[in-house]
Amino acid sequence: MPPSWSVTVRAPAKVNLHLGVGRPRPDGLHPLATIYQAVGLYDDVTVTDADDWSVELTEPVAGVPLDEDNIAVRAGRALTAHHGLDLAARIVIDKGIPVAGGMAGGSADAAATLLGLDRLWDLQTSDDDLLQIAGTLGSDVPFALVGGTALGTGHGQLVTPVPDATSGWWLVVLSDEGLSTPAVYRHFDVIEPDAPIDPPVPEPMLEALADGDVVAVGDLLANDLWPAARDLRPDLVEVEAYLRATTPEGVLLSGSGPTLLALHENVSDARVAAELLNQRGVRCTLAPGPVAGAHVVTYA
Ligand code: ATP
Repeated sequence: MPPSWSVTVRAPAKVNLHLGVGRPRPDGLHPLATIYQAVGLYDDVTVTDADDWSVELTEPVAGVPLDEDNIAVRAGRALTAHHGLDLAARIVIDKGIPVAGGMAGGSADAAATLLGLDRLWDLQTSDDDLLQIAGTLGSDVPFALVGGTALGTGHGQLVTPVPDATSGWWLVVLSDEGLSTPAVYRHFDVIEPDAPIDPPVPEPMLEALADGDVVAVGDLLANDLWPAARDLRPDLVEVEAYLRATTPEGVLLSGSGPTLLALHENVSDARVAAELLNQRGVRCTLAPGPVAGAHVVTYA
């Protein structure tokens, strides 16, 4: 293969339709019972064979490291270590997922890099091994490979696809400033000292998804991190109240925040809601869900 061959992989953002959080385990990780849904905001990651590891962004984005700290480089190194190979790649990321927004953009980049390098070098890594490597990189990385809608257990890394007959539209309300995931979890530990050891799996949400009942899904949206995120970002409360007053289906904090989400059953209502928000000076976008996980879009 000539060294100029490259593979581009598109990986989606996620929302947690349900995020049940337990008290931290002895290893410091939080047990989760979560239902992930992949939504149509994407990062595109292009990998090319190179002598050394490097990472670039197609456009500058604040808060994204451009060195070994970038999770995409960590993913590449983990994959080559798994195969005992001394290979490296240039990684170029086109970010469409908000950074530090609770939508797992870094995890999407890690998943895209794993898949892209596997295909670039024809490593034929098994799905089980890819998921296992993904789980060592971050709790949300395996789900970015799987996509669709899935139950996440363990610390979120054990992913089981679930039937989802819904097809909805998320109004994604963006925040100019990110929120640190570790800081939100630390505050959660302080205000929820009696969190369960094993958070329960939300069976009613699984039933609503299987039934394709978007209205019931909207009623059941839940996120245990919400009180902690509200304490750290009181400015979210006003937008949340506005969304609650104007969105029939349901409102949600995305992961550890600060992105807020409003669920709409049809796109025309979602568009009207987005236009009204834009007129108020609030930045927002629309994303369908569920969508596919990381997938190759170009092999050139
Ligand atoms: P988490 O996945 O921890 O819930 P998040 O979804 O809120 O996080 P991300 O966009 O994944 O937010 O970024 C979290 C942090 O990870 C960033 O602030 C940044 O310092 C670091 N980071 C490392 N690599 C990347 C990457 N490729 N893209 C974005 N952030 C990255």
